[in-house]
Amino acid sequence: QPDGIITVIVLGASGDLAKKKTYPALFGLYRMGFLPERTHIIGYARSKLELEDFRERISAYIKAPIDAQKLAEFKRLCTYVSGPYDKVEGYQRLETAIAEVERDAKGSKNRVFYMALPPSVFVPVARGVKLTAYSRSGFNRLIVEKPFGHDLESSRELHRALAPLWKEEEVYRIDHYLGKEMVKNLLTIRFANVFFGAVWNRQCISNVQITFKEKIGTEGRGGYFDEFGIIRDVMQNHILQILSIVAMQRPVSLDAEDVRDEKVRVLRAIPPVKIEETLLGQYTRSEDNTKPGYLEDSTVPPGSNCPTYAAAVLWINNERWEGVPFILKCGKALSEQKTEIRIQFQDVPGNVFRGAPRNELVIRVQPNEAMYMKFVNKQPGLSMDTVISELDLTYKRRFSDLKIPDAYEALILDVLKGDHSNFVRNDELDAAWKIFTPLLHTIEKKKVAPIPYPYGSRGPDGVHEFVAKYGYKRTEEYVWSEGKE
Ligand code: NAP
Ligand code: NAP
Repeated sequence: QPDGIITVIVLGASGDLAKKKTYPALFGLYRMGFLPERTHIIGYARSKLELEDFRERISAYIKAPIDAQKLAEFKRLCTYVSGPYDKVEGYQRLETAIAEVERDAKGSKNRVFYMALPPSVFVPVARGVKLTAYSRSGFNRLIVEKPFGHDLESSRELHRALAPLWKEEEVYRIDHYLGKEMVKNLLTIRFANVFFGAVWNRQCISNVQITFKEKIGTEGRGGYFDEFGIIRDVMQNHILQILSIVAMQRPVSLDAEDVRDEKVRVLRAIPPVKIEETLLGQYTRSEDNTKPGYLEDSTVPPGSNCPTYAAAVLWINNERWEGVPFILKCGKALSEQKTEIRIQFQDVPGNVFRGAPRNELVIRVQPNEAMYMKFVNKQPGLSMDTVISELDLTYKRRFSDLKIPDAYEALILDVLKGDHSNFVRNDELDAAWKIFTPLLHTIEKKKVAPIPYPYGSRGPDGVHEFVAKYGYKRTEEYVWSEGKE
């Protein structure tokens, strides 16, 4: 519980993110008793909305089963102010509304500004709230959503515009993958277990794959997606963030700056991705003719070469990882939805069990959180044959009464607590853009053509050969028998 009162101001409160993520997460925290007692939530946007309509709107995505009384109480905490983003009058109205809820409060008057807005208005809004609605007697925190620029130069430009207004310690850049349970768990499994620590290096690991697959395509929002493409949308941020935690050195402590220092250090050891070590794809109509291709989305510019699938290899030039390929794969309109980390170990040197496959540690981030190590076991019985089995931790089975918090709940709680560990620091962002900007510029300048793949398939032809080229050996004979005790 902080001293005083907290007001959360959601800027762009009439929008999609506010409705789908921000308000449901705030409600989740309220329901579980994690919102400090004296919290108010004020929405701000240009749309003129009646308070009751606004409250209906922000609760549309709050999932059943819900506690109706709690929801009614939560809605009463939420108010709305309408105003422009580019004129001081709007921010004055906002300041008056905040001052009103803070009026009788004792102690400090703390404010969290959540920018659920398109990037075109990030800077004017950050300036507007700083100049007119900044608290003089408590903390001020600014939550920013991606995209943080579209390449190194634009990201630096955004930083140059924000830095004179907001101090780095006041800024929380959200990458919601950092709020996911299994991603947060990476630090624990790596640094709280002696056996992982011993094998987590180039002597034991052959290759690492980090894979993000989505079943859906752009579904009418292709115009928005086309400005970014899958590399900016997923690889440069979510997957690279996972990579940095998989590959970083042990931090001096769990303090946010110590963790972020190590993440930056490992990113700085990665040279820019080469186009020759990349495979790009774009989805076409599904084979059964039921789902449209990317270029059939009427909001996508005709002939766009925007990749909806990408595989790329990153190398880390340090003592721990030199020579180990980190293969990042991500795509839309694929056969399944999953995000996983697959660490494949080296062959056993001088193996007396001929043809024994490699160990693989798989960390499934979503769906159905799990972690399993594929390993070779004697086939039970009289022979000495081998069989691949697994050491398995399936969350649903192991942790009863499991309630994995939504990433946004976890991250908003971190902001309220002032914990920066799971947010992207500016120098991290800079290092991340340095890795991908030359590749992105080459794709755009040379109009590199993506390989077509049907909606609902495993991705473009050649992806399995691509992964194999960098050392991944697939064990086809592995059979997973779920649920057997
Ligand atoms: P959005 O719905 O398009 O925009 C949010 C609000 O901003 C709108 O309700 C609108 O409010 C105002 N707005 C929209 N276009 C504008 C423009 N051109 N100029 C000025 N104001 C405009 O956006 P969103 O999907 O909520 O996303 C907000 C931010 O979160 C973006 O940076 C996005 O990249 C990021 N994000 C979104 C999601 C998601 O699931 N939607 C997920 C991750 C990150 P008024 O017209 O009422 O002012
Ligand atoms: P898998 O799904 O067989 O994938 C292993 C690797 O082979 C991935 O790199 C995958 O590529 C690739 N691959 C899959 N199908 C392919 C195909 N037809 N052609 C070429 N490459 C292909 O994963 P697994 O770890 O061996 O596990 C097998 C199944 O058991 C999975 O469904 C897994 O979820 C399940 N399992 C579950 C648990 C648990 O829930 N606790 C534990 C163990 C196993 P992509 O990465 O591109 O897909």
